[in-house]
Amino acid sequence: MSVPPIYLDNLATTQVDPRVLEAMLPYFTRHFGNPSSATHTYGWTAKEAVALARAQVAALIGAVPQEILFTSGATEAINLALKGAAEFHRDRGKHLITCAIEHKAVLDCCRHLESRGFRVTFLPVDRWGRIDMGQLEAAITEQTILISLMAANNEIGTIQLLPEIGALARKRGVLWHCDAAQAVGKIPLAVETLGVDLLSVSGHKLYGPKGVGALYVRRQPRVRLLAQLDGGGQERGLRGGTLNVPGIVGLGLACELARQELEAEALRLEALRQQLWLGITGPLSGVELNGHASARLPGNLHLSFAGVDGTELLLALPDLALSSGSACTSGSAEPSHVLKAIGQQAPASLRFGLGRFNTEAEIATAVVQVVAAVGRLRGQAGDHPGFHHQPG
Ligand SMILES: *Cc1c(COP(=O)(O)O)cnc(C)c1O
Repeated sequence: MSVPPIYLDNLATTQVDPRVLEAMLPYFTRHFGNPSSATHTYGWTAKEAVALARAQVAALIGAVPQEILFTSGATEAINLALKGAAEFHRDRGKHLITCAIEHKAVLDCCRHLESRGFRVTFLPVDRWGRIDMGQLEAAITEQTILISLMAANNEIGTIQLLPEIGALARKRGVLWHCDAAQAVGKIPLAVETLGVDLLSVSGHKLYGPKGVGALYVRRQPRVRLLAQLDGGGQERGLRGGTLNVPGIVGLGLACELARQELEAEALRLEALRQQLWLGITGPLSGVELNGHASARLPGNLHLSFAGVDGTELLLALPDLALSSGSACTSGSAEPSHVLKAIGQQAPASLRFGLGRFNTEAEIATAVVQVVAAVGRLRGQAGDHPGFHHQPG
């Protein structure tokens, strides 16, 4: 039997925590009721479970339960936030602001809105992946209704200047939606401190199940949205459809566990990341860190390697489950809009996404394999391993 590869792709998705799975199981069988059924105990039990989960999600981000709407994931939450706010407020203005390194869910929603007569400003980022606050302020006009800027980037891990964005949005009377799919449960986030109006959450990025997520919608002052899914009146009429009770129970407990363990887990992941960084950059030259040196997700290490080909590097690491990325690819992989935006042109990059179930021993193995693979490929190519990166 072959050993499965070491999973270092926790920014793409995470394993469901066994405690979460355990909590979900009864809601597939014994407690299978529809929370909208008001006439019997099956419905009441399901309704109670959803109420508990709503409180658990709210507690993680310092919200109140009534501000949490359940969705099928962050993509749906983002669609509801952006299209819902844009359509509701279209008579007030038709301008939105976002940035070049947002997730495709945000960028594609913005493209859709452009085709419906809205104007969108896509702010650039600096070489560490941060927007410029002066440029953001200058981009706001009388017509601006919404800013959508993420908490932490899913490729390079950079955390934006979040309270600053919130304060500016507040001052200028513009709504702020924050795609926090990567940040929730990983770094402390409180909606009041952030000054955020809408915030998207994904279950499967924080050891909960796939296909469930949430949108935080501020109540005071009340943020108005146009529903994107009609039917049944669930979720205050903003998101119709029978609730995914087992998924919601899982998301709730995942948030509860993340809240309890956040601080200790962040320290543990930072130590593992340091082990990986020192292990790789000790023996190897020509390695560059992408993203912000300190304002980054604890579990993220994103590296570019000079003198090797990206596809070959990944092929040389069959025992590691990793994501790669480069700004320009010759092969089949999609070029990364994030690396392009930060001016990183190296042909080979690796995203290490460390998570709850990774161990020191796994990181030690990964170090040995990466160092050996890069050394071998550079030896074959005979390239000089120096870096010739031009800051953008
Ligand atoms: C994963 C992710 C999404 C999409 O979340 P789903 O729940 O998979 O739809 C959106 N934004 C960011 C930053 C993500 O990492």
